[in-house]
Amino acid sequence: MVDTDAQPGCSAPLVDRAARPGGTTIQVRDVVVGGPEFVVAAGPCAVEDAPQLTATAAAVAGSGARLLRGGAFKPRTSPYSFQGLGEDGLALLAEAGRAHGLPTVTEVVAAGDVALVASYADVLQVGARNTQNFALLEALGAAGRPVLLKRGMATTLDELLLAAEYVLANGNPDVILCERGIRTFETATRNTLDLGAVAVLKARTHLPVLVDPSHASGRRDLVSPLALAAAAVGADGLLVEVHHDPDRARCDGPQSLTPSMFADLMRDLVGHLALGGRSLGGRLPDVAAPAMNAYRDRIDAIDDVLVRMLQERVALGLRLGRIKDAAGTPVWVPERESDVISRAAGSTDGPLAPAAVARVLRAVVAETRAAQAPSAETAA
Ligand code: PEP
Ligand code: MN
Repeated sequence: MVDTDAQPGCSAPLVDRAARPGGTTIQVRDVVVGGPEFVVAAGPCAVEDAPQLTATAAAVAGSGARLLRGGAFKPRTSPYSFQGLGEDGLALLAEAGRAHGLPTVTEVVAAGDVALVASYADVLQVGARNTQNFALLEALGAAGRPVLLKRGMATTLDELLLAAEYVLANGNPDVILCERGIRTFETATRNTLDLGAVAVLKARTHLPVLVDPSHASGRRDLVSPLALAAAAVGADGLLVEVHHDPDRARCDGPQSLTPSMFADLMRDLVGHLALGGRSLGGRLPDVAAPAMNAYRDRIDAIDDVLVRMLQERVALGLRLGRIKDAAGTPVWVPERESDVISRAAGSTDGPLAPAAVARVLRAVVAETRAAQAPSAETAA
């Protein structure tokens, strides 16, 4: 048999996009990862105690996170750093997830812990220091839970895909990949976020791809811009560290967002995703006084996008009108106008009926025509 380890670009048939050209969606309770909605997993780096987790979970749930993250087994670089609460941390995470209706994500660091962690958590994370821990990957094949596989800081994309192939080949088809930054010569950030990897992975595999802007940057001021860039490059969602009081965090405080920074990020994401025809997954926060502000913020963000796109549409209409003028063809073609409206209104899906969408579009088209011939309108 050929030793594929020696070959660049060695084959990983189960994770190859060709195996599932339409992409894989992964169901985690009521959350779908890899579908049309952008899924945000958020929470503290480490579960520290009940008050910390309760406060942080309430904050991320209130801002629209769909999954709750938190480490109970922490693979720390130094043996003297906080190592996590172990099983007590798993229990706290499961309880906080239940309280807010959020499925949970937590790291498993050893093959022997897989059954224990799977008995508490919904998604089992493999950290960057364990991407090629093949005994762990094999054990995860039988975990009965989706796996969130992070890219190691010195792992090539071929190696990452082969690591995922281990899990699939051992019987578990539910693997979510996560780009979390790689180690480069750059020291301004903790790691270097490889956004190109997201585009490459989306082309090469059918598995969903998340981005972790927290470990990639190591700095909370950089988390939001990198998160928005991740959405733009086609990631299926994010893994973000949030702490109710980051300056007192026992782990990764400098890169943890405060609850209000996280709320701002979620609001900004709405606008950015809408530009790509996508939305944030899930129910909006409950209708309570603070959550009403979240609704209003999201509506404001959507209005900003709508107006920007409206202006772009009219500007294009005007340019097209000038081209037609120069070519001596009629600027207004009523049949084309009704085709444009029925095509767009026919593909709609949502609370607004197609006839209502058509009315709105007719108004847009009428305004475009008025902008094309302002003098005619004045004269009329
Ligand atoms: C984490 O997500 O808490 C973590 C330890 O990340 P990474 O493995 O990417 O360093
Ligand atoms: Mn961390």
